[in-house]
Amino acid sequence: MRFSERVMAVEPSVTLGITSGAKAMLASGEDVVVLAAGEPDFDTPESVKEAAIKAIREGRTKYTPVGGTRSLKEAVCRKLKRENGLDYDVDEVVVSCGAKHSLYNVLQVICNPGDEVLVIAPYWLSYPEMVKLAGARPKIIPARRENAFKAAAEDIRAALTEKTRAVIINSPSNPAGVVYKKAELREIAGICLAGGVTMISDEIYEKIIFDGKKHFSIAAVSEEARAATIVVNGVSKSYSMTGWRIGYLAAGRKVASMVSTLQSHSTSNPCSVSQAAAEFALSSADLEGELRRNREEFQRRRDVLMDRLSEEKKLRPFKPEGAFYLFCDISECGMDSLTFSRRLLDEKKVAVIPGGPFGDDRSIRISFATDLAAIEEGAERIKDWVRGM
Ligand code: PMP
Ligand code: GLU
Repeated sequence: MRFSERVMAVEPSVTLGITSGAKAMLASGEDVVVLAAGEPDFDTPESVKEAAIKAIREGRTKYTPVGGTRSLKEAVCRKLKRENGLDYDVDEVVVSCGAKHSLYNVLQVICNPGDEVLVIAPYWLSYPEMVKLAGARPKIIPARRENAFKAAAEDIRAALTEKTRAVIINSPSNPAGVVYKKAELREIAGICLAGGVTMISDEIYEKIIFDGKKHFSIAAVSEEARAATIVVNGVSKSYSMTGWRIGYLAAGRKVASMVSTLQSHSTSNPCSVSQAAAEFALSSADLEGELRRNREEFQRRRDVLMDRLSEEKKLRPFKPEGAFYLFCDISECGMDSLTFSRRLLDEKKVAVIPGGPFGDDRSIRISFATDLAAIEEGAERIKDWVRGM
């Protein structure tokens, strides 16, 4: 059988692969500490589950409009207004099967062969692969640790060519937990607007943010920025709803209608029951307390992990300001990130994610979306192993 060159040019998701492999080891009784997960360990809030059960009982089990029910899109519009200061109409919103799907759709509708999409490294590993699947070329902008893993505005400007179609901004970011300040986003938006480049803003980690920092959307910089930005978000990380598969985008009418057309020939609507649950989550002020407690718990774990790893000279952890990953430089250990991660799993039974597929082979990504006991045990094993090298 012959296969498409498009799909042969991409790698399977390492994050999903390692995480499910490590979970399988755990299930078979192995003493593995899994610090790989890209999902909150907290359960979906009870009231959200109840909303889904109610939807099933009420028979909301049929096809919905392709881009989501009107009431969910209204809930998304209210959320964007309330929390991000952004005004959108329901026909500027499209709900998809996770933010990953929203991003995939966006790239499919805006890219043509020969186009370039700027991706800031270290990046979430799916961005370059999705760009390739859309027939375009990812152009990587390395962000230096000395610059807090943020892209320097000058580097973005220098990377722009007539082929540049879009730049992907991810704040808070996966894998380094970078949170861009308003002024920095304003500068980036200015460059993109001057260059006629679309901004794709992945805001999936917006609620997991530490030290009292506030998330700011690049679309909120100005009316012009809003018009040139596609905001992508979802309920996976904010509401511990990774398995429900609901993400959404907000953009101009034309983008929204093109994405709906694409979706009408691929997945049709996202799961109707999940839509009802997401609508409840996005509309329920009662969940705020639970979200705050989760955020505080993530911050506590970050601090413990940061303290423990900092005790070992060969490890250089980078303090994340958001999301639930800690990016740690292991270059003093004398091996690449994949070898480090493989050997750590084999020899010490700790699962972490190599930084290589995220565009930084000097680092590993350690997830703190697991309980404190596992984090402490994992950190001890890592230090112990590194010390013995
Ligand atoms: N963006 C980033 C940066 C992510 O880490 C993830 C995690 N999977 C996603 C988007 C997609 O999330 P989901 O598809 O579960 O909404
Ligand atoms: N985004 C999460 C991660 O980076 C989940 C896995 C994935 O979708 O890649 O681990």
